[in-house]
Amino acid sequence: MSKFYLNIAVDTPLHRVFDYLPLEQSKRSDYTTGQRVIIPFGRQQKTGVILNITSKTELTDKQLKPISELLDQTALLCEQDVALYKWTSDYYHHPIGEVFAQALPKQIRSGKSPVIELTTLYSLSDSGLALELGDLKRSPRQAALWQLMNTAKAPVDNELFADIEWDWRAPLKSMMAKGWVTSSQEQTPSLYQTITPGFKPNAAQQAAIDTVAASFGIFNTFLLDGVTGSGKTEVYLQLIQQMIAAGKQVLILLPEITLTPQLANRFKQRLAAQLVISHSGLNDSQRAQAWLRLKEGVANILLGTRSAVFTPMKTPGLIILDEEHDTSFKQQEGFRYSARDVAIMRARNYNIPVVLGTATPSLESLHNVQQGRFTHLDLPERTAGASHPDIRLIDCRNQRLDNHLSKPLLKAITATLERNEQVILFVNRRGFAPVLMCHSCGWVGQCQRCDSRMVIHKHINLLRCHHCGVEHRAPTHCPDCQQAELFPLGLGTQRIEETLNAHFPDIPVLRIDRDSTQRKDAMQLVIEKVHEGGAQILVGTQMLAKGHHFPDVTLVGMLDIDAGLFSCDYRASERMSQLITQVAGRAGREEKPGRVLIQTHHPEHPLLNTLIQRGYAHFAKEALAERQQAQLPPYHFQALLRVNAINERDVLNFLREVQQLTSSINNPKVNILGPVPAPMLKRAGRFRYQLLFETAERKPRHQYLRTLLPAVEKLKTARKIRWSIDIDPVDLY
Ligand code: ADP
Ligand code: ZN
Ligand code: ZN
Repeated sequence: MSKFYLNIAVDTPLHRVFDYLPLEQSKRSDYTTGQRVIIPFGRQQKTGVILNITSKTELTDKQLKPISELLDQTALLCEQDVALYKWTSDYYHHPIGEVFAQALPKQIRSGKSPVIELTTLYSLSDSGLALELGDLKRSPRQAALWQLMNTAKAPVDNELFADIEWDWRAPLKSMMAKGWVTSSQEQTPSLYQTITPGFKPNAAQQAAIDTVAASFGIFNTFLLDGVTGSGKTEVYLQLIQQMIAAGKQVLILLPEITLTPQLANRFKQRLAAQLVISHSGLNDSQRAQAWLRLKEGVANILLGTRSAVFTPMKTPGLIILDEEHDTSFKQQEGFRYSARDVAIMRARNYNIPVVLGTATPSLESLHNVQQGRFTHLDLPERTAGASHPDIRLIDCRNQRLDNHLSKPLLKAITATLERNEQVILFVNRRGFAPVLMCHSCGWVGQCQRCDSRMVIHKHINLLRCHHCGVEHRAPTHCPDCQQAELFPLGLGTQRIEETLNAHFPDIPVLRIDRDSTQRKDAMQLVIEKVHEGGAQILVGTQMLAKGHHFPDVTLVGMLDIDAGLFSCDYRASERMSQLITQVAGRAGREEKPGRVLIQTHHPEHPLLNTLIQRGYAHFAKEALAERQQAQLPPYHFQALLRVNAINERDVLNFLREVQQLTSSINNPKVNILGPVPAPMLKRAGRFRYQLLFETAERKPRHQYLRTLLPAVEKLKTARKIRWSIDIDPVDLY
């Protein structure tokens, strides 16, 4: 019998696969791509995945070891998925083993055998159904449970009891003891009673639905470009319904922040489908279950954040990625993949359509439309009779501001509240103020570990660095001149909250930022409060800009956008325009017209004027023309080598050696910019530099990196520093 070897992906930072011998007495036919194995690795035992079975190896018999165990009898991952993970490893120049580690849930990758947990379903027995409410009047809790189950008319899982504030388990147990309730273990929970909406899709929605539906079973990328409130979610729902009816699965990807129970419920209520959710807030077991259910076809919809893009699908039908412009789809550390680009690649592998939805398309996607690679679907109008908001600038030059609020804005807030409507104020920074300064000598509170100022958090009387997380008590006296005249400079959400409380003592002011929403259900409580209606003010960071639907908000104020107009990052204007458009989209989503007021000291700024007078689409067209002229992405292709170390000299020594490598390779197709210090040179005690590679086409970039990176990996100086490569970086920090 001819010898064969197993090529195995192992979770290590090394850019290679490892060859192993099969188990003794096993046959070649026992093995297939996509099975998990346990292997001796150094002194450890690790889990790995078989990538290939070959008859050649470069290792000698002495170097080769057999695997310790074969974990799966059949392939856990299908060929298409293994091929996708290989492609991402190649494209992002990231070790294949780490790609698998990212793609598989922790429980699966640690070698557990994948079993779908059963759900307990409860239903009323014949004797339970024969009861009447009056029979239970001495035990009101049993009566409440009986009513819920009697209305459901189907076996229910414990989600039906999720809103009950008392312990429903004990009374349910008594009811089971009496034989009124029976339970069974099932693979799938029962479905919600679905709701049919009281409207039909409008012409633009219908056209979008029909165009995508014509592509079922064919790879095609659609850009669903629709202003906020134009009914994109409705288009998704209709497409998903068609998919489910055809027995296909749908993968839906969302930015981290919008994944509230609200949205999941909206989907569940509309779709008679098994829906599972996956995001970073879940525990390992929940994530593994969602993954398995989709892979095995027990669930037909997965609603997830970035990393869900790797979840295998049994009967793939459609991929939807909402808010495609959102940078949270790009992982910013470790394996720096773009979930948007991976989603497109997956759709191509599966030969299915993918829909990217947004009100503010990324320049990359618009470029792809121009090139004919994506199909553009337009939803130009808001539904439900809502009109576009009226956006105006407030010129703050030489104006007296009351704690950063201008007179016209305060007036507009007052008028809105008097009409019993709601206001959103957008502030770019959480905390009270970004700087603490000494009035007599000019000292400012700096972070010792970063090139950055400490942000004042007044409620807890702390100075906190938003870059490294260091915090300490706010001093009462200046550390330099000992005077007690320290004052806050600039604005943060807490400061605006305080000012508004002083101005409008009877109006609830709700703050939404990363500090106020740390508790798990905090965001949900705020949303519920807003939906109760009545005059309210919401103060928040860009968390407010994402996805939420607040029907009573008719005024949006933006307080501190000026800094974004003058950033050194060429992407800042794109982000700024998206942010303004998204925040503005929160105003007047239903019958009540919306107004947006933007405070600025630069009312002549071309970006603001283009955006306000001509809209996002026009801004994007101009910005693309500029990018083309400046040979920037999406016209050219970048890769960023980031380096950092505690000792600046180690970074510079390493970079000198990298430069020697680059000049010896000497490829005229690759432009090299730098090395330069990162925009924030020192962060968390480490010095940071970067080197940018730029090419006119994708291919030479990859060929070049395939030569360069293995050599970089071998440099001696590399041991003293940390480095990473970022393909298609979305920020230069
Ligand atoms: P988007 O996702 O583009 O922000 P949504 O799909 O959330 O928009 O729609 C906004 C609101 O309009 C929702 O309350 C939705 O139920 C409603 N809606 C959607 N399509 C229509 C339609 N064709 N006619 C009337 N109302 C609609
Ligand atoms: Zn001082
Ligand atoms: Zn810091």
